[in-house]
Amino acid sequence: MKPCSKAHSTTWKTAYARKEKLRYNAIMRNLKNALLLKQLYQLKQLGYRYTNITPCKEESTSFTLPNEFEALKKQAINCHLCELSKTRQHVVFGEGDIHAKLMFIGEGPGASEDSMGRPFVGRSGELLTKMIENVLHLKRDAVYITNIVKCRPPNNRVPTPSEAHTCQPYLLKQIELVKPKLIVTLGGTAYHYLTGDETGITKVRGTLHQQNGYMLIPTYHPSYLLRNPSAKREVFEDLKKVKALLENP
Ligand code: SF4
Repeated sequence: MKPCSKAHSTTWKTAYARKEKLRYNAIMRNLKNALLLKQLYQLKQLGYRYTNITPCKEESTSFTLPNEFEALKKQAINCHLCELSKTRQHVVFGEGDIHAKLMFIGEGPGASEDSMGRPFVGRSGELLTKMIENVLHLKRDAVYITNIVKCRPPNNRVPTPSEAHTCQPYLLKQIELVKPKLIVTLGGTAYHYLTGDETGITKVRGTLHQQNGYMLIPTYHPSYLLRNPSAKREVFEDLKKVKALLENP
């Protein structure tokens, strides 16, 4: 993934689109594998030790997620596709305006979010709300807020690649349905899992990227700002860019 520049060539765009398509196909393959494992696990719980039953036939099963927001949310709320489902209290799907121009994506729910079933409601959430209201001059419910994984990783650890990839189809479908003009990723994990780029957050924050029909600006996670208040200045600069892009396309 490269920063925007006027020198973008058609060849680069075609190659980039092909790479994104391959990445999407890999994500859907991961989802299919997770569904298959889940069905085998259910058969095991029913007492099967060996089975020649094919739990899901690729050619006959539709793996597409619902195109309707409430149906998608319902599917996620009943999801047990990864290990995180075993320790969560609530699935934290996301909240806000489902037609928002601006979307914030964090890493995963923390303890407060897990107990309330809402994203960014703890101390980090208070700070994010202040950033939205005081810098962007928007109401919190005018943007859409979600995370890379919808269930809390135990002890707030970073989601594993397997967990992030298993959950990713929900996020990609949310983005497809909301159709934001701009996404702000909060923290290095969210940026990395959404873009596939492993560049560190300190290097990449504040840079503008273009992918899949939306602009993307990575910045620090509010929890990092709580531990390092001096970094608020940099986030303030990032959000000024976001504001300008929303107001002046
Ligand atoms: S984190 Fe995502 S994939 Fe894992 S159980 Fe929760 S909703 Fe399902």
